[in-house]
Amino acid sequence: MLSTMQDVPLLISRILTHGSTVHGRSRVTTWTGEAEPQRRSFADIGARSAQLAHALRDELGVRDDERVATLMWNNADHVEAYFAIPSMGAVLHTLNLRLPAEQLLWIVHHAADRVIIVNGSLIPLLAPLLSRLSTVEHIVVSGPGDRSALTGADARVHEYEELIADRPTAYDWPELDERQAAAMCYTSGTTGDPKGVVYSHRSIYLHSMQVNMAQSMGLTDQDTSLVVVPQFHVNAWGLPHATFMTGVNMLMPDRFLQPAPLAEMIEREKPTHAAAVPTIWQGLLAELQARPRDVSSLSQVTIGGSACPPSLMAAFDELGMRVCHAWGMTETSPLGTVARPPAHAIGTEEEFAYRLTQGRFPASVEARLTGPDGERLPWDGETAGELEVRGPWIAGAYYNGPDAEPLRPADKISEDGWLKTGDVGIISPDGFLTLTDRAKDVIKSGGEWISSVELENALMSHPDVAEAAVVAVPDEKWGERPLATVVLREGATADFEALRAFLAEEGHIARWQLPERWTVIESVPKTSVGKFDKKVLRRQYADGRLD
Ligand code: ADP
Repeated sequence: MLSTMQDVPLLISRILTHGSTVHGRSRVTTWTGEAEPQRRSFADIGARSAQLAHALRDELGVRDDERVATLMWNNADHVEAYFAIPSMGAVLHTLNLRLPAEQLLWIVHHAADRVIIVNGSLIPLLAPLLSRLSTVEHIVVSGPGDRSALTGADARVHEYEELIADRPTAYDWPELDERQAAAMCYTSGTTGDPKGVVYSHRSIYLHSMQVNMAQSMGLTDQDTSLVVVPQFHVNAWGLPHATFMTGVNMLMPDRFLQPAPLAEMIEREKPTHAAAVPTIWQGLLAELQARPRDVSSLSQVTIGGSACPPSLMAAFDELGMRVCHAWGMTETSPLGTVARPPAHAIGTEEEFAYRLTQGRFPASVEARLTGPDGERLPWDGETAGELEVRGPWIAGAYYNGPDAEPLRPADKISEDGWLKTGDVGIISPDGFLTLTDRAKDVIKSGGEWISSVELENALMSHPDVAEAAVVAVPDEKWGERPLATVVLREGATADFEALRAFLAEEGHIARWQLPERWTVIESVPKTSVGKFDKKVLRRQYADGRLD
């Protein structure tokens, strides 16, 4: 028997219409580096999104599910692109502005982007590629920046404001199939070639509802969220969509992502929430320690993308900024787990330990652990295996061109359709995930596994250590052994013997896991989304030599 419920598709246009009417007074504030930021209401964003959609269709001829790319910072114009492009039936493709030019070119071709909307300040990135962007017919420039490098481009160049001016401020959004492509994003390639993940209207809609749940970010229209996580990094973790559902104000840093302007933004605009990867917060912490600011408004900070070091969580707690740790991937939209401690642990000694886990799975994300021979492992809080997940906002395949069958590589998608995350961890009987490592980062020493993350976290809790990354290096006797690369704080005096002793005594690391190879580096190489890039370190020390 079928239900008697209406079959209404879950569409991005619905989120836009809702946000721009019911929450029309909520605002997107974009940092400009000048005395006054730019402020735009959700109602204005609704009207301008309709204008953008008219322009894309009528002036640039965007049809059906053609790809419209953005090469943009986090700002109000980018939010308009987020809503206009999928709502009209086309596909939003957010380009990662930190990628090397050749990778960017590869991705634009692979996605066959027809239009690129680019921030004026990012033209220097695009300009060297212009003669090779064979699929791109139109370039739309938004915001300040020198345009001269675009003269002579094969593609037609338009000004965003001129393009949308005088167009109707309402659009009869089509009733699409909710399973249709809405947005796409390429994985940042920490562990291989970029792979295209395509989100549907339905997956984004359901994901947004989860982001808004009290046990996830749980924000309301009384909140302002400082969205530091880039809009090109898994849809800014779903925040632009989720905030339009509930009227949460957004504070967008645009290109001002350095610790000093971030601290100023927090002091002046008083956000209540912020989201970014740990490296951003490490930088802000050092800034606040050097030049204290009033950051008392910021009561909740979502940290994900890589493991949150306990020392960072504790330092933020002291400043009154409560960290909520979360895990996810490009393939998981990204919300996979959120570390809100269970009721029984609140106020007890266990609370901090729960907050340090990657968190609990929401109802829509099923999880299982798999052993090396494909066997299912128990959720006993002890047995480690590869995490596999399944759910309505989890990728089941990768983009392989508009007319080709999607790719289902055996190392990424199991035979029965689960996503193999490449992350290794344990799950407690009450559903809390603790990641011990990425499969590729685990150090396999004499048949036993050493967690690089555990060593890094322990090292980064030493007062003399600013950053630490541990990678496997070849070892004749053990196969692999850990190499600790350490960035020392200014004026630090600790030597390797002292750090080893610290790991054993304070970090409770077993003797056999302690690194015997150490080196001091100036900074840990970072990926395009600000994570430790261990690929680079592994390559550098591939022969095990430290000189
Ligand atoms: P990339 O794989 O290129 O880094 P993603 O942003 O999709 O791009 O990264 C997803 C990966 O980031 C996860 O598979 C996991 O290894 C890591 N990750 C994300 N959040 C956390 C977290 N809270 N703790 C540890 N690792 C995390």
